[in-house]
Amino acid sequence: MKRRQLIGDVIGLGPLWRARDARFDDHPARRVPPPAAPLADAPVESPTVETVPAPVVAAIPVSPIVQAGTSAPAPAAPVPVVLAEQAAPTLPVSAKPVLSWSELEQTVARCNHCRLCETRTQTVFGRGNPQARWLIIGEAPGEQEDKQGKPFVGRAGQLLDNMLAAIGLDSNHDVYIANVLKCRPPGNRNPSADEIVACQDYLRQQIAHIRPTLILALGRFAAQTLLDSNDSIARLRGRVHRYQDVPLIVSFHPAYLLRNLPDKAKSWQDLVFARRTFRQLSGQ
Ligand code: SF4
Repeated sequence: MKRRQLIGDVIGLGPLWRARDARFDDHPARRVPPPAAPLADAPVESPTVETVPAPVVAAIPVSPIVQAGTSAPAPAAPVPVVLAEQAAPTLPVSAKPVLSWSELEQTVARCNHCRLCETRTQTVFGRGNPQARWLIIGEAPGEQEDKQGKPFVGRAGQLLDNMLAAIGLDSNHDVYIANVLKCRPPGNRNPSADEIVACQDYLRQQIAHIRPTLILALGRFAAQTLLDSNDSIARLRGRVHRYQDVPLIVSFHPAYLLRNLPDKAKSWQDLVFARRTFRQLSGQ
């Protein structure tokens, strides 16, 4: 099996992400991901992202980033890159971290600040490279994450890793992946407000340590929590928000994509958009 077909099959993108009639000859999912290396040391220079002539997954055109307090644009492309005036005042990332990275990890491991400590198997701090320039933030650990102690494992994690690989990011080196909550809500229920408040300082300190160039918030819960917003994913996608001083882009949670195949095309749009934005922010 050709590598490009193998990647497409592993990603599970189906016909939406697969070339038709030779129109996706330059599709990044067909490219061999670059060797694993920290993004800061080896900026991803794949020329594939901007040149995807995909009718289904056409990239959102990117205009120069503008600071704006303007109303949200319609979700349909094209939309400008807008740095929205949204921030969660309860999670100030500008503050210096209080604990070292290892102290923070140990503190989280023995945390009992909310009721979730009573039902968890273990805490889930994060995975990836703490020096990475990309920070991926999801909602909370699920069953597999609770068992394995890592975020985004199982089918959803595999899909995320493959989606990141499709834009040239190695999930072990180029990104750090964490959740808003560090412990699994029983039955995968939605986190409660008091649990978020109890846990928020851990994520704040993680962000303060990592100081990412770009945050990718996956899923409605993570996006709404970080942006202090009640807007839907549909309204939050396609723009560059700010989480305090860090640019933030919203997309779907991989677990959602596994159940909603058509939205994989929109997810690909978001990844292309995020990649372009990252390159703009990095001056690449
Ligand atoms: S969810 Fe966060 S605040 Fe609650 S027990 Fe776990 S680490 Fe502590």
